[in-house]
Amino acid sequence: MLEAIDDTTRVVFICNPNNPTGEAVRRDELIEFLDAVPSDVIVVLDEAYREFITDSDIPDGLEFERERDNVVVIRTFSKAYGLAGLRVGFAIASPHLAEGTRKTMIPFGVSSIAEAAAVAALQSEDELFARVRHLAAERDRVWHALAGQGWNVHPSHANFVWMRLGNRTEEFAAACEEAGITVRAFPGEGVRISVAEEEANDRVIDVGAQLSSVPQ
Ligand SMILES: *Cc1c(COP(=O)(O)O)cnc(C)c1O
Repeated sequence: MLEAIDDTTRVVFICNPNNPTGEAVRRDELIEFLDAVPSDVIVVLDEAYREFITDSDIPDGLEFERERDNVVVIRTFSKAYGLAGLRVGFAIASPHLAEGTRKTMIPFGVSSIAEAAAVAALQSEDELFARVRHLAAERDRVWHALAGQGWNVHPSHANFVWMRLGNRTEEFAAACEEAGITVRAFPGEGVRISVAEEEANDRVIDVGAQLSSVPQ
């Protein structure tokens, strides 16, 4: 990404953890990158899955936003807070960038209902984050099980697990569908499995076990 930056580059997006792979950039790597990016290029850290991170080597973007005027952190209530559909999130930026952003925003872009829901969600963080911790543990259980079956899966830092399946993507997605599980298939590449309740996760692990014994 650094090599791709030239005179015409205005903004760089870093999705951390990344969607759909679930992989994350670590503190040292991010510092190295930010130090090398020209200060007039804006770096947006998209932290939609921030709350699901359990590894302290993966930094909170706010660590950098405070020191660097070209860094913007964006967060959403769509994932950990369970408010997808209400379209509410926020950016944390220097006053200068925040002012520029405001100028291009639609008036009342966040509805009063979404605003009330977001405030209520913030007040329920204890309960919500207990659920998030449980989900993160389930996520680790799912990837561990799939890795143990021999699948190409990496530890995920989000609320889903990415399986690199290549030409077996459609086969795997179809077997999940048959087991009553919908996964997001990226043909020829892999599937993103959203972590859900234990019973559903068990079914995915069962599908993995069945297909891992099928010769390719
Ligand atoms: C979900 C998500 C967002 C936020 O989406 P909204 O629902 O519009 O708030 C941003 N970035 C990524 C990578 C996401 O997955």
